[in-house]
Amino acid sequence: MKNTSRNIVLQPSEMPDKWYNIAADIGGKMLPPLHPGTLQPLDGASMSALFPDELIRQEMSAERFISIPDKVRELYSMFRPSPLYRAVNLEKMLGTPAKIYYKYEGVSPAGSHKTNTAIPQAYYNKMEGIKKIATETGAGQWGSALSFACNHFGIDLQVFMVKVSFEQKPYRKMLMNLWNGKVEASPSIITQAGRNILAQHPDSPGSLGIAISEAIEMAVNDPATKYSLGSVLNHVLLHQTIIGLEAEIQFEKAGDYPDVVIGCFGGGSNFAGISFPFVRHNLDGKKKTRFIAVEPTSCPKLTKGKYRYDFGDVAGMTPLMAMHTLGHDFIPPGIHAGGLRYHGAAPLVSVLVNEGIVEAQAIDQLECFEAGLKFAQTEGILPAPETSHAIAATIREALKAKAENSPKTILFNLSGHGYFDMYAYQLYQENKLTNFVFDDALLEKIEGKTHPVVVSR
Ligand SMILES: *Cc1c(COP(=O)(O)O)cnc(C)c1O
Repeated sequence: MKNTSRNIVLQPSEMPDKWYNIAADIGGKMLPPLHPGTLQPLDGASMSALFPDELIRQEMSAERFISIPDKVRELYSMFRPSPLYRAVNLEKMLGTPAKIYYKYEGVSPAGSHKTNTAIPQAYYNKMEGIKKIATETGAGQWGSALSFACNHFGIDLQVFMVKVSFEQKPYRKMLMNLWNGKVEASPSIITQAGRNILAQHPDSPGSLGIAISEAIEMAVNDPATKYSLGSVLNHVLLHQTIIGLEAEIQFEKAGDYPDVVIGCFGGGSNFAGISFPFVRHNLDGKKKTRFIAVEPTSCPKLTKGKYRYDFGDVAGMTPLMAMHTLGHDFIPPGIHAGGLRYHGAAPLVSVLVNEGIVEAQAIDQLECFEAGLKFAQTEGILPAPETSHAIAATIREALKAKAENSPKTILFNLSGHGYFDMYAYQLYQENKLTNFVFDDALLEKIEGKTHPVVVSR
């Protein structure tokens, strides 16, 4: 079938066979992760309690392209290449001269982009003989993606799921269980980190930072268990670039190129996935695309947080990373975009924000739900509440194009579907959701909890 303007199709044989590693192009600007005890740059050996060697190698690599193993490409081919759609109905409804495209990552088995890194992470653990992995999950998308991948490779999985999401989204837990993932609501009583939080805050709604502490503790205490993270780290962002690399080929086929690329922002992986391959052409001076990372106003690390060395978790067990942060003990309000409730930001994206290459926007929960519903009513797909942040920003851009009567090409990443989020959409339709005001007084406390970024070492 010929490509139509609504659906730009790639054949399986056109799937990229390498990931793009942006560290090759901005590595000089990166600050190394630090050992939390010595505050010295971390070496690979001290990461090996947590990760298999190949993932550590990728985390520190300066190679521009890294080959995707055949076995990983074979599993990718269950749902990749993913479609690039033109949102013709949404454009009409908005009356905008802008062309809106979206890359649909909800086609993966677990329903979001997270499967793109879950598969290679499980694969490399399997290759190095690992029998069990511990991880955290916010809204449940990462936990389900990793359950799917671990189940495929015969690896046991323990998931710590942020308690507020555990209660809001029982079917996500069921899905993880169906793929043989074990799930605990976090904070839990099965780790010391969880028990410490519960002793102080028995009603804690949990946070990604707490769940990460629990999973790391489990991995550190058991030599046969490794840890896995679904966002933030360089190797996770690397795996997600398959999204933008495919989109680049699809835009070539459509004879178009994005003026604006938009992604919602939790830890930064789906945003990096859609944007980094296009950022590359800005870095080499060939293009002037704008890149917009969209976060919730209730958890505004990019727009209000500080660029500091901070921990990735609440208990302070991870290495210190140079990133935009709200302080590692920040507990965001229980918004329904659970995947965006993280205090920090990927170091690679933080650098691009500092350089002015990536813009950040914060949008309120209600505007996002309204945008998500508009999208479902025009394009048919119900987006995840996380994704609705990207859609809200896309609608803002499309309306700006209309006001200025300037056609432009917008690309956003539809990071996942929202078919496990019906309860949230029900609350929205019943007018039971509110916006949250971020308390700026918290910003003054960040300094005391983080470490300054020493630029000249
Ligand atoms: C996890 C998740 C996000 C946020 O995480 P990033 O690492 O920032 O991409 C966004 N959308 C969906 C659907 C998710 O599952």
